[in-house]
Amino acid sequence: MTTHQELIDRDRKVTFHASTHLRDFAHGDAPGRVITGGKGIHIIDKDGREFIDGFAGLYCVNIGYGRTEVAEAIYQQALEMSYYHTYVGHSNEPQIALSEKILELAGPGMSKVYYGMSGSDANETQLKIVRYYNNVLGRPQKKKVIARMRGYHGSGIASGSLTGLKAFHDHFDLPIDTIRHTEAPYYYHRAAEQAGMTEREFSAYCAGKLEEMILAEGPETVAAFIGEPVLGTGGIVPPPEGYWEAIQAVLARYDVLLIADEVVCGFGRIGADFGSHHYGIKPDLITVAKGLTSAYQPLSGVIVGDRVWRVLEQGTGEYGPIGHGWTYSGHALGCAAGLANLAIIEREGLTANAAETGAYLQRQMQAAFGDHPIVGQVRGVGMLAALEFSADPARRRHFDPSLKVGPRMAAAALEENLIARAMPQGDILGFAPPLTTTRGEVDEIVARTKRAVDKVT
Ligand code: PLP
Repeated sequence: MTTHQELIDRDRKVTFHASTHLRDFAHGDAPGRVITGGKGIHIIDKDGREFIDGFAGLYCVNIGYGRTEVAEAIYQQALEMSYYHTYVGHSNEPQIALSEKILELAGPGMSKVYYGMSGSDANETQLKIVRYYNNVLGRPQKKKVIARMRGYHGSGIASGSLTGLKAFHDHFDLPIDTIRHTEAPYYYHRAAEQAGMTEREFSAYCAGKLEEMILAEGPETVAAFIGEPVLGTGGIVPPPEGYWEAIQAVLARYDVLLIADEVVCGFGRIGADFGSHHYGIKPDLITVAKGLTSAYQPLSGVIVGDRVWRVLEQGTGEYGPIGHGWTYSGHALGCAAGLANLAIIEREGLTANAAETGAYLQRQMQAAFGDHPIVGQVRGVGMLAALEFSADPARRRHFDPSLKVGPRMAAAALEENLIARAMPQGDILGFAPPLTTTRGEVDEIVARTKRAVDKVT
């Protein structure tokens, strides 16, 4: 039988891994791991070692691992009709049913769903829609898109430009020149001048910075604003009180479209069908992926609101069929997986569980780490949580980055057979367990985290 080590050695020779130190991995100086199975909130590697996956893959396996019902839905669809393209009006049954379901969950004002394979490609579609929209409206100069520092929207040329994390820009000559980044709604990281602000005051400050930027660029050049309801990869940061209300007031003043990137929050993660519902966001466009299929198939979607849809229709009336499409748009297997996944979420009440057990997760994290000498902030909402480490919590002082506190915490958690994610910027340990997680499993996650953090401290 092939051993784990043999597999890793073969992998080092042939695979270009995402977000990996390529040289160290290829030369055997960074660890590898081959995952062979999963059940519930656990995954298992080739050695048979079992981990609690406290991050649901990359916050995507929302219904947990090993769901035969989804596997069977994919299998049955593959037997019947695995693929046909969806260009020029072709469709398949799962696509139709999935669009109906998504629009039902999204609520009033949403009109159509366009499918892709990843969050990144869905955000590329968003940018094309926004350009087209303004061209149809005779405003060819209204093309800039404002994202946020610390936002994450993908890693393509355009979607990676929307992302507001240095590591995704440096050495790739990003961002492209039509993208701007405004203040992150990161209350914990507010500068010394904002130290005395309440959350509401800080939200007004962020909205003010956005307005300043729109005015400096010229409102006639700003097409859209994109944001995650809760900053995800940038640190798992729920917005300060009143943030979305203040931001939306500014966008309305300058006729700027709002794109809600719900790739992480969509389909229950924070205890509502969409993060937008939780925070009272009324987007013109929504991006979904991850939880749409719980990663049983790669599938993403762009949900287009009525206001934008009417203009897209008008445009094709003038220009002919829209020049946009992927070979795999509306892939039948992806849509079949999406339908089976959403049926499980509904039947098992997983969105409600994310609200209830998620609140328990937040309380237990607070109880374990609220007064910890090197934890600056415990935060989260629903099944999203984070510990931000600090050299001096009272003064919100950071550790020296060379100490790599975040990665060391994640490594210590791994020794406890718990996967928690060292977020890419700052000393932050992130948690996003499957929405199926029980209170008992939360207790286990918190206990293992406590042992790991105490070991590193
Ligand atoms: N948008 C958000 C909010 C994300 O968190 C991610 C991925 O983590 C993306 C977009 C990009 O999705 P993908 O990695 O599927 O391209």
